[in-house]
Amino acid sequence: MPRFEPSTSLRASVRALTGYVPIEPPEEVAARYGIAPESIVKLDGNENPYGPSPRAVAALAAPYAAHRYPDPDQRRLRSALASHLGVPVENVLAGAGSDELIDLIFRAYIEPGDAIVVAPPTFGMYAFDAELHGASVVEVPRGEGWALDAEALLDAASGAKAVFIPSPNNPTGDVLAPALVDRLLEAGALLVVDEAYIEFSHATSLASRAAEGAPLVVLRTFSKWAGLAGLRVGYGVMPAEMVSLLMQIKQPYDLNVAAEVAALASLEDRAVLDERACAITGERDALAEALRATGWVHPWPSESNFLLCRLDGARGLEVREGLRRHGVFIRYFDTPRLQDHVRISIGTPEDSARLLAALEAVRADIDAGRLHA
Ligand code: PMP
Repeated sequence: MPRFEPSTSLRASVRALTGYVPIEPPEEVAARYGIAPESIVKLDGNENPYGPSPRAVAALAAPYAAHRYPDPDQRRLRSALASHLGVPVENVLAGAGSDELIDLIFRAYIEPGDAIVVAPPTFGMYAFDAELHGASVVEVPRGEGWALDAEALLDAASGAKAVFIPSPNNPTGDVLAPALVDRLLEAGALLVVDEAYIEFSHATSLASRAAEGAPLVVLRTFSKWAGLAGLRVGYGVMPAEMVSLLMQIKQPYDLNVAAEVAALASLEDRAVLDERACAITGERDALAEALRATGWVHPWPSESNFLLCRLDGARGLEVREGLRRHGVFIRYFDTPRLQDHVRISIGTPEDSARLLAALEAVRADIDAGRLHA
């Protein structure tokens, strides 16, 4: 056996990892740009600008058993989720964010050499986990207007272990057509539909189909709709047999006690959260119109809490950097197709006003040749 050595003893798939680029803590970026942290407008993480619901805030302020381990079977939350969704509790599994459920699917089902299918541009976590587990990633790029290439997807799915598609998709904001779901479910691979943003769309959730035994996992999260991104609570609806199997391999205490009480309280506050989601989609549509009126920031249609925007005569990176200097944080993706794009999360109307003013200043800087990213 060769001597242990931190880097060369790594698993081959980990050595080859390119990594996931997460959002930086805002205080770090603010310090770099000499900006007061309290003046930041944070539109880079698709978070909920209104924070947790009033009942969740109260539940977190009240005493709870932080000194006890949480229930490894997540009974209370799974049962509340089952009634919320109208599916049997045997079909529901919660986790530390939907990220954990994605990881569990890989740990249970994806072996080195297996293939998974994604349709970029899309959420990066599926490819990240695939690399980590030594699986190959078959990319079926979206076409004109970010439309899915149905035939190519079906073709790729027939030779793969799993297909991962968010609906609405991050960052393009479009939803998966039900007719394509039917066809993908026939392709032989596991279909994972990630509904992290569904509360901001008109789409009907596929959760009940996942509970009826189709080779389908529907992922949902409390990070966006419920404003609990920092507490890490997500869940999946899937065939009952999968819940039992994933339950056996997950970390027993993955869902922490604070996350559980806040998630339960959020479900009791769903009317408030739905109202807020409605305010966010209203603000999204108003912001889209205001951006279009700039003549150079062109938002794609979105069924989500963010807008992917194409920029005329500006690069995504320079606009992100320019806005940072004004304390407005947005997301840029360094991939060939998104060089002239940025993604803007929807905040409050005040956040939108700050963004629009900063965009105008950045445009003036670009035109005057004052901005170099
Ligand atoms: N799925 C998609 C499509 C996302 O965009 C995100 C967050 N960026 C997640 C899942 C992660 O959700 P969670 O916070 O529940 O891990």
